[in-house]
Amino acid sequence: MFRVSERCRWIAWVQLKMKVEFYRHSIERSDIDKVVAVLNSLFLTTGEVVSQFEDEFSRYLGCTYTVGVTSCTAALHISLLAHGIGPGDEVITTPMTFIATANAVLHAGAMPVFVDVEPNTGNIDVSRIEKAITPRTKALMPVHLYGQMCDMKGLRSIADKHGLVIIEDAAHAVEATRDGIRPGQLGDAACFSFYATKNITSGEGGAISTNDGVIADRLRKLRLHGMSKGAAERYSRQYEHWDMEMLGWKHNMSNIQAALLLNQLERIERNWQRREAICRRYEEGFSGNPNTVCLKVPAGSRSARHLFTVLVDPEKRDDVLGRLQDKRIGVAVNYRAIHLLSFYRHLFGYSRGSFPVAERIGDSTISLPLYPKLTDEEVRYVVQTVQDVTVDSGRSRLSGSA
Ligand SMILES: *Cc1c(COP(=O)(O)O)cnc(C)c1O
Repeated sequence: MFRVSERCRWIAWVQLKMKVEFYRHSIERSDIDKVVAVLNSLFLTTGEVVSQFEDEFSRYLGCTYTVGVTSCTAALHISLLAHGIGPGDEVITTPMTFIATANAVLHAGAMPVFVDVEPNTGNIDVSRIEKAITPRTKALMPVHLYGQMCDMKGLRSIADKHGLVIIEDAAHAVEATRDGIRPGQLGDAACFSFYATKNITSGEGGAISTNDGVIADRLRKLRLHGMSKGAAERYSRQYEHWDMEMLGWKHNMSNIQAALLLNQLERIERNWQRREAICRRYEEGFSGNPNTVCLKVPAGSRSARHLFTVLVDPEKRDDVLGRLQDKRIGVAVNYRAIHLLSFYRHLFGYSRGSFPVAERIGDSTISLPLYPKLTDEEVRYVVQTVQDVTVDSGRSRLSGSA
């Protein structure tokens, strides 16, 4: 009895005090100092600091080239263009992702073709891909969902057999490995996001990593109007004329963004370790709860641990979301299956049942707070509150049907 009342008092006290944000960034003084140094310098746009970031990012990933851009959306878009993918072409991807993945295919003038996902990871189901390949298929665009890499070996062998390129949406997966492989190593290009809530962030930003020098060169042009020389080359030496060689976009990363990212790259492993520890606590905390299911990290994988999701009964998901917010816990839904969003429904005539596994995840998933600044006490509070509200919402449904 004593222990129960102690626990109640602890919960009551914690609930008065706690507010657990869905996300808090990990920007430190040293990152700010780097930005201030750029602001005090001559050169704000793409220059030395971007090159430095690109080199360090390549070194971290173990790939040859990185091209800094303004977003992962831009990265996906110009990666398709750099591989000559456009009108009349099809790109196989997943409906369980942020809309940016499929939108980038449409921006390039090509058509996204969805393939359903694995129930255990939410990643594209490699065993279903070959059935979706047509003579128009040019590329596979897998998404390493929540930080768990797709089966890149399986994808590479399908791509080689059918002469396809692989452009990885690695927005969640900077720190991930699977079977000893990292993003960008088996794909033709891997695209990253430094959006405000990603594992490293410049507020907005992105990059493409590749081992192909011709593609890297083309990406450098496509990110800046197809110009033959970037601003740094045009102004840091004797003025030189430039040419426009292709129609490019305005996707170039600035020195300000790169400065914000540089030190974060040095802390990336430490921050990953903290998120890994939090995920393990969540997984342990929920392991005895029959009303929650956690996704799996397949053997041989290290998840980048970008998002932590629990699946609950789809009938109760929105109720659980509301209750968690009532208890001042920030939540999100990553993602409702994108083929059911109005635009994609209308464009392709999709409906419920088109991709049942993705729909099931989309209807039942809840993302919980996950970031290095989350304290042990906050994690404990989230675990306890999820237990309470999932049991509660079970009870309320039972009493409602009685
Ligand atoms: C965030 C995200 C993107 C888009 O990144 P931006 O940098 O915001 O363009 C693409 N794909 C996935 C899976 C994402 O989570």
